Amino acid sequence: MDYQNAFEAAVRRVKAEGRYRVFADLLRRKGEFPVARWRAPDGQVKDVTVWCSNDYLGMGQLPCVVESMKKAIDDVGSGAGGTRNISGTTHYHVELERSLADLHDKEAALLFTSGYIANEATLSTLGKILPGLIIFSDELNHASMIAGVNGARCEKHVWRHNDVAHLEELLAAAPKDAPKLIAFESVYSMDGDIGPIKAVCDLADTYNALTYIDEVHAVGLYGLRGGGIAEREGLMHRIDIIEGTLGKAYGVMGGYVAANEIVIDAIRSLASGFIFTTALPPALAAGARASVEYLKSAHELREKHQERAATLKLRLAEAGFPVMPSVTHIVPVQVGDPVLCKRMTDMLLDDHGIYVQPINYPTVPKGTERLRLTPTPLHTDAMFDALIEALRDVWQRASQQDLAVKG
Ligand code: PMP
Repeated sequence: MDYQNAFEAAVRRVKAEGRYRVFADLLRRKGEFPVARWRAPDGQVKDVTVWCSNDYLGMGQLPCVVESMKKAIDDVGSGAGGTRNISGTTHYHVELERSLADLHDKEAALLFTSGYIANEATLSTLGKILPGLIIFSDELNHASMIAGVNGARCEKHVWRHNDVAHLEELLAAAPKDAPKLIAFESVYSMDGDIGPIKAVCDLADTYNALTYIDEVHAVGLYGLRGGGIAEREGLMHRIDIIEGTLGKAYGVMGGYVAANEIVIDAIRSLASGFIFTTALPPALAAGARASVEYLKSAHELREKHQERAATLKLRLAEAGFPVMPSVTHIVPVQVGDPVLCKRMTDMLLDDHGIYVQPINYPTVPKGTERLRLTPTPLHTDAMFDALIEALRDVWQRASQQDLAVKG
C-alpha cells in the first residue's frame, strides 16, 4: 500500500467535489463580538464582522459566564481528572445536570462532552437497551444522529423530511409490538425550518413509540426559559428524550440529554460515549450552568434576537436577495452554485471584512449552496447596512466573473 498516495488521493477527491475546507484563523476578543480579528493567509490581521457564529446570543463573552469559568479554574484547577465514574464527577457537573433537568422539566439530565457525542452515544445505546428496537429517523437529521442510529445496529427507517404522513405509513407497517423510537430535530440548522413536534407526539402515542428530539439549535433561544421549541409549543412533557448542546446559544461547550430518571440511569450505565471518556472540565460546567441559568430569565434577549433575525430577512428580501423561507433565527440566502458561493464569501472577507462561511454540498443538496447568516442581538443596524452593501457588490462582481468564465 502506498499510504502517501492514498492520503493524497483522498484529499484530491474532497477537493474535486468542492468539499475541501479552509478554516478562517479568527481571534475573538471578549467584549467585541461579533467583531473578531482575522489573520489572512499572508499574515495580515484585520477586524471582521462575524455573520455565521452559532454563539447565537453572544453568551460566550457574557461577564457572568466568563467570570464563573475563571472562578472555577481558580478554585479547582483545569481538568476533571477522570471519567465521570472515576473521580471526574465534580459538584459543577452535578449542579449543571440539575439545572438542565429543570430547564426541560424532566427528572434527570446527563452531560456529554459535546452535542455530537450526546446524540451518537444515546441513540446507539438505545439499540442495546431495547431489543428489537426500530428507529424512525427524519432524513435531514444531523450527522451525529445518523451515527447514533447506525450505531444502534437495529432496523431503521428514514422518513421524508417533516413528512408526518410518510412517518405514519412507516409506523403502521412496522410490527405492532416492536419497540419504536422516532428521532427528529426541532430547528433544522441549514434551512431554519421546524419539525412537526405535536404531530410526531400524536403518532408516537398512537403507535406506542418513544420520541427523541434534537433541540441543539433551539435551546436557550425559544420557550419562556430557553427550553427550546418544545417548551414554546407546550410539548416538552410529551417528548421522552430531549437532546441539546451547551456550545451554541449557551456559548460554552458540552452536550446533554434530559429525560425520566430511569431512562437517564440506563443510558448513564451503558453508553460507551459517556462512560469511557474524561468528564468536561469543571470550569466549562460552571460556565455552562451560569449561561443556562442566565437564559432562563433573559426573555428580552431572546426577543431581541428574533427581532434582529426578522429585520435581517426583511431587509435582504427588500434588497432583492433570495432569502430562503426560514421561520427561525437562521437566515439562509441561496446562491445555488458552489464556486460562486465560495467566491462571494472570499470577496466578503477580503474586500469587506465580513466573515460568512460558504455552505456547500454535502451539508446541503447540490444546487442549493448558500450563505447561512446568523444575526445575534449584538449585530447593529450599521452592521446590517454594511452587510447589504457588501452583498450587493459581491453578488454583482462574482456573477460577472462567472459569466466571463462561462463566456
Ligand atoms: N445536532 C445538530 C443538529 C447540530 O447542528 C450539531 C452541531 N453542528 C450537533 C448536534 C452537535 O453539537 P455540538 O456542536 O455540541 O457537538
